[in-house]
Amino acid sequence: PPRIRIIGGGLAGSEAAWQCARRGLAVTLVEMRPERSTEAHVTDGLAELVCSNSFRSDDPDGNAVGLLHAEMRRLDSLVMAAADRNRVPAGGALAVDREAFSRDVQAALEAHPGVTITRGEVTALPEADDGPTIIATGPLTSPALAEAVRADSGEAHLAFFDAIAPIVHKDSINFDVAWFQSRYDKGDGADYINCPMTREQYDAFLDALLAAEKVAFKEWEGTPYFEGCLPIEVMAERGRETLSYGPMKPVGLTNPRDPEHKPHAIVQLRQDNALGTLYNMVGFQTKLKHGEQARIFRMIPGLETAEFARLGGIHRNTFLNSPRLLDTTLRLKTRPWIRFAGQVTGCEGYVESAAVGLMAGLFASAEARGAEAVAPPAVTALGALLGHITNPAHAETFQPMNVNFGLFPELPAEMTRIGKRKVRGRDRKALYGQRARPALEAWIQDPAVGEAA
Ligand code: FAD
Repeated sequence: PPRIRIIGGGLAGSEAAWQCARRGLAVTLVEMRPERSTEAHVTDGLAELVCSNSFRSDDPDGNAVGLLHAEMRRLDSLVMAAADRNRVPAGGALAVDREAFSRDVQAALEAHPGVTITRGEVTALPEADDGPTIIATGPLTSPALAEAVRADSGEAHLAFFDAIAPIVHKDSINFDVAWFQSRYDKGDGADYINCPMTREQYDAFLDALLAAEKVAFKEWEGTPYFEGCLPIEVMAERGRETLSYGPMKPVGLTNPRDPEHKPHAIVQLRQDNALGTLYNMVGFQTKLKHGEQARIFRMIPGLETAEFARLGGIHRNTFLNSPRLLDTTLRLKTRPWIRFAGQVTGCEGYVESAAVGLMAGLFASAEARGAEAVAPPAVTALGALLGHITNPAHAETFQPMNVNFGLFPELPAEMTRIGKRKVRGRDRKALYGQRARPALEAWIQDPAVGEAA
């Protein structure tokens, strides 16, 4: 089988290298540090954690990231094993000693006879002659390589910023207040969820927004905003009615419960995933602190008890429009010898990046051995994450996201009802894992996955 080249020795690249090597393939892992660094890395170690030391919840029954942990452990993930070996106390969360964790990952790869680690920046897209390659260069991909990707894929398909509006679980929206309607009844006529505000509610909301605590833009992030994606609080500062004439304009919409009175402002939410379980708040990209966002956005009528799948933010984040550019096993459609993995594919977070690295390594290994790569089932955490990244239906609105239960296919009624009672809360969350486990085991039996033995 051909040698597999992996570019980028972060969370995703290290995991991908491990998955290839343990399936008996020869791997070269190319990391640019210390020759060249990024704005956030400070060491030359593999799998450096650039910010927090937390891998978030370790509870497979209460949290989608906990379920992802469990699935990765089942597939002998190096990142998870190193995290478990270097765990520090953090309640229900999995947190690590970051230096020991990075040393552990590096030592495991250095000790593996199948792995060669080289240092140096890769600045061009690999050609077919270079053999199978996984690009896992992360949210801070070096400018030269980012430019090469952009030139190949087209301007519109590589983002440099992540300007995201909060994303809400649809089943937490109060439909006694909110209603479905598209502005001027365009399209399907009911594509958006609308939340109405009276003049008084709008004034109170604006006051809260102006007084709220914002996150400072780090020095290295100091690039000006695009006018098209101004944070909502910056718009609010420009004038008290900027929002009611902008993203919150009430025109072309009628509140079915009070058709005579035009609301002063309307917040719209747009479907965010193909399953229709998540909705994003249109025009609400923001740099408010996370606690402030939850507090202030719950002032919006209809969102009083909103649960957020993701809060808003703006930061440097180089990522592909993967739903358009990649196939279902992470291959670049125009150059199928290249796979992408990690945050550059539009997942978000340490664990998710490593998980996508795990899948890319597994797919590349299957192919190198002459088998066809097989994606994990959609009901598993791995499959749900992969679906977010590669489902072409997401191409228009694609934004990076952490794994969450909103990315999973909806649970069937026979699972969520016991007699007349609806299963709720933690019990309901546990059902995702119950459904995922047998599906994962069945997938693992596929020889292409190479885990069955
Ligand atoms: P990385 O871990 O960044 O790995 C990419 C590697 O590729 C790096 O080692 C880099 O040096 C190398 N590289 C880049 N370009 C080239 C090139 N041309 N040639 C060779 N090598 C190259 N997630 C969390 O879960 N929690 C957090 O607290 C958190 N904080 C973050 C803070 C910042 C400032 C940023 C930017 C991201 C943060 N993330 C966080 C998001 C994300 O989880 C991490 O960035 C994660 O490290 C992504 O994993 P990765 O493997 O895709 O990329």
